[in-house]
Amino acid sequence: MKTKRFRTRAVHSGQRPDPLTGAHATPIYQTSTFAYGSFDRGARLFAGEETGFLYSRIGNPTTRSFEEKLADLEGAEDAVAFASGMAAVSALALTLLRPGDEVVFIGPLYGGTEGFFLDVLARFGVTITDATGYESLEAALSPATRMIYVETPSNPTLRITDLAEVARIGRARGILTVADNTFATPYLTRPLEHGIDLVLHSATKYLGGHGDAVGGILAGPKEIVDQVRAEGLRHVGGSLGPLESYLFLRGMKTLPLRMEAHCDGAEAVAAYLKAHPLVRRVHYPGLPEHPNHAVAARQMRRFGGMVSFELEGGARAARAFLDSLELFLQAVSLGDVESLATHPASTTHQLLPPDVLERQGVTDGLVRLSIGIEDPEDLIADLEQALARVEQVLERAG
Ligand SMILES: *Cc1c(COP(=O)(O)O)cnc(C)c1O
Repeated sequence: MKTKRFRTRAVHSGQRPDPLTGAHATPIYQTSTFAYGSFDRGARLFAGEETGFLYSRIGNPTTRSFEEKLADLEGAEDAVAFASGMAAVSALALTLLRPGDEVVFIGPLYGGTEGFFLDVLARFGVTITDATGYESLEAALSPATRMIYVETPSNPTLRITDLAEVARIGRARGILTVADNTFATPYLTRPLEHGIDLVLHSATKYLGGHGDAVGGILAGPKEIVDQVRAEGLRHVGGSLGPLESYLFLRGMKTLPLRMEAHCDGAEAVAAYLKAHPLVRRVHYPGLPEHPNHAVAARQMRRFGGMVSFELEGGARAARAFLDSLELFLQAVSLGDVESLATHPASTTHQLLPPDVLERQGVTDGLVRLSIGIEDPEDLIADLEQALARVEQVLERAG
């Protein structure tokens, strides 16, 4: 499949008709265990002298198809799937880090990841450093740094990290680099092509794309993926179920088509919001005035389906806006075919101290939109009526 183009690979990679029945759709192997048939074969399988499925915590044929498809789309040697994005993050860290090691990240990260690093990993003697407090990534590194962890575009203000630059810095010092590619997907950005070592996803978002399954996946060199499978999956146990694996396989077949539609919608919405008098600021990497637009143009095929913006009138305006939306659902998560809207300051970022919120640009008037695949005209009409409502509320207050 490696010589084929992206859309072809999204459909075909990792899948073949079922050898037993010829079934064209990948069967959901809904089984916990696999009969190994004989005393001797059991012993060989457990010794690793023969490959085969043993027990679904360690591996399952439907899950294996999902892993092969994602590995191919990211241009990785191999991948290992997990029960959630956070299970992938924690398995990676528990496998590769030791007490005394340091993780340097470029914040802000997804709240769960930052929480896991600071609240859990730190308890096991791993030092966690946010490089955004330094003037450069290099200045934040120390002899103990084992891993550099980045996320691009970031949540919720869609800052872009230069992956080639991160990879160059990591390589020069033998530090492992990891990129969370959930917001971009391999259709828009392939971190390994920029020299990053490992790529991670919350499959819950765009890979699945339909808001009906939770899962995660890690891809990279076979040697590291094997190690994470043997320890972080086998011994920690955050394994993805076969039904979810099937849903991700199915979702990924249309990933390129959905991403084009998400990008079409997000571009139209960003342009509309930018021209609206009640909108103070729009965060979208596709806008020329976005601080990282040039990097985004270099490492992304298009600019993604997430848009955030700051309303005049703070929390009062944000409440009126969100409660007036008719098509957009108020919900966390992202990457679904349905459009979603959230107010980060009162939900996902509620517990962060004011100075961190300020640094991350999470103001009271900030709204985050995950643009679905609906007709952009209908989405804009919904935003328009909700903004008209904000205007009434502000006038009344004002
Ligand atoms: C949602 C998300 C995660 C966590 O994934 P879950 O599947 O919810 O565990 C990690 N990183 C990013 C960027 C996310 O959006």
